[in-house]
Amino acid sequence: MSAVAQSIETRTEEQELTDGFHLVIDALKLNGVTTIYGVPGIPITDLGRMAQAAGIRVISFRHEQNAGNAAAIAGFLTRKPGICLTVSAPGFLNGLTALANATTNCFPMILISGSSEREIVDLQQGDYEEMDQLAVARPLCKAAFRVLHAADIGIGVARAIRAAVSGRPGGVYLDLPAKLFGQVMNADAGAKSLVKVIDPAPAQIPAPAAVRRALDLLKGARRPLIILGKGAAYAQADEAIRTLVEKSGVPFLPMSMAKGLLPDTHPQCAGAARSTVLKDADVVMLIGARLNWLLSHGKGKTWGDAPKKFIQIDIEPREMDSNVEIAAPLVGDIGSCVAALVDGLGSNWPAPPAEWTAAVGAKREENVAKMAPRLMKNTAPMDFHGALGALRTVIRERPDAILVNEGANTLDLARGVIDMYQPRKRLDVGTWGVMGIGMGYAVAAAIETGKPVLAVEGDSAFGFSGMEVETICRYNLPVCIVIFNNNGIYRGTDVNPAGGDVATTVFVKNARYDRMMEAFGGVGVNVTTPDELKRAVDAALSSGKPTLINAVIDPAAGTESGRIGNLNPQSVVKKK
Ligand code: ADP
Ligand code: MG
Repeated sequence: MSAVAQSIETRTEEQELTDGFHLVIDALKLNGVTTIYGVPGIPITDLGRMAQAAGIRVISFRHEQNAGNAAAIAGFLTRKPGICLTVSAPGFLNGLTALANATTNCFPMILISGSSEREIVDLQQGDYEEMDQLAVARPLCKAAFRVLHAADIGIGVARAIRAAVSGRPGGVYLDLPAKLFGQVMNADAGAKSLVKVIDPAPAQIPAPAAVRRALDLLKGARRPLIILGKGAAYAQADEAIRTLVEKSGVPFLPMSMAKGLLPDTHPQCAGAARSTVLKDADVVMLIGARLNWLLSHGKGKTWGDAPKKFIQIDIEPREMDSNVEIAAPLVGDIGSCVAALVDGLGSNWPAPPAEWTAAVGAKREENVAKMAPRLMKNTAPMDFHGALGALRTVIRERPDAILVNEGANTLDLARGVIDMYQPRKRLDVGTWGVMGIGMGYAVAAAIETGKPVLAVEGDSAFGFSGMEVETICRYNLPVCIVIFNNNGIYRGTDVNPAGGDVATTVFVKNARYDRMMEAFGGVGVNVTTPDELKRAVDAALSSGKPTLINAVIDPAAGTESGRIGNLNPQSVVKKK
């Protein structure tokens, strides 16, 4: 026995000890963390085991990016930071993509990564998985911390939690070097060093003058519009938002992940009249939505020539005037801001001019009627609209199911076709339009809500996280994956004009993704018509069994880059 071990043993007789492993777990539990998403390995294998033994649910993935995406969307769904746990350097980097994505989307998340020996890393002496992870993470997230002493674990975890959820939510990196886990300290002192974060996301009450300014502007509007963004969905102020919309009588346009905050079938919903309301509105109230590329930066052709004034509700003051002048900035949390506006509406708020609401309603009916026949086409092979028509009925019949959606055409068309009826039921590619969120989001949605999950995936998009079907089968999650299989990216029909290799955008023809699911004991189904698709999804959602449906789509059906082909640069030079 070494002298150190002997002295620890002697001391144990007098006092109980704890160590870094236990302190991390105790700190997370004290702050209500119930689930960790991660991939085990050096140096955090035992941390995962011990967390599981301590009653935290630990969900092991096959790749850290998917675990990170799971943590991020858990944060969005629960307003508590989702936790992702990874190994050092490469595992950390894999998780970092998800952390950056979470930050971009304003989802609260904490990436906890083990790291190698500081002394060796900092002298660049070539340690196992050597990397200065803290420095790498810092520019890509909202905050980054490293804990070197066991006695600081409580503070480190508390800072990470507060940074993730307060103000504008985002991703936080917490670096835990391998040596920290084995550090021993007195158990009483350890327990006292832990911090339970009080009021981690404090209400931020808007200034009364700012509320009045917003109401005055809204009152004078001839053609007002409310745009609901995913910040509004995140805020969980569902009742207050519904009251504001209904009491004011203003048409509302939901951004993708805000669909269902009020039902898409609500009489004031302008989702099907998007182009018209953006062009013609004179006062636009943004609630938790940024004027970024997804809203054409608030200017240009999309917004038309009619002069516009903006009211913006956001917790982040610097978001104001980011793209155009904001005439009435309302800085605060959405719950408090909307409550203040509702108060200010009083009991005899004038409805917007009937001419405007009638015009919006008429445009909506016209567009809905135009689309209807395309959604009923029951042919093989399916086109996107036919297949989506079936899935639209599924969600109408099961509005509590969670829809995960990624792809190009599969995303853009599903967003328009599938009506949502309840808040936070649509999870998709978000601010970056990123591919690869599918299986991570699906796993976390099932775990955090206990509801059935329908993941509608382009065949290309699915490939980024497809190995997690094993994870879905392993935890026996009620996830039904539908792959819109058109043999490739955008389309499956491209040809390499030079001969030789196949074109860059095509995959193996007539692939059977359903068989991947069978390999892990799940249910695999191959369908060729919308009727078959509907039956297979219904069976999956009713049974709750992990299911993958390979939906055969016409390889010629898609368009380049879906609806954002304009962002795809193309050469104008013709080479002979
Ligand atoms: P979308 O893509 O749906 O338009 P964005 O992600 O662009 O939504 O915008 C979300 C906005 O919501 C961000 O600017 C963020 O600061 C804000 N936000 C997030 N949570 C809250 C909250 N609780 N209160 C106020 N604003 C919030
Ligand atoms: Mg495809």
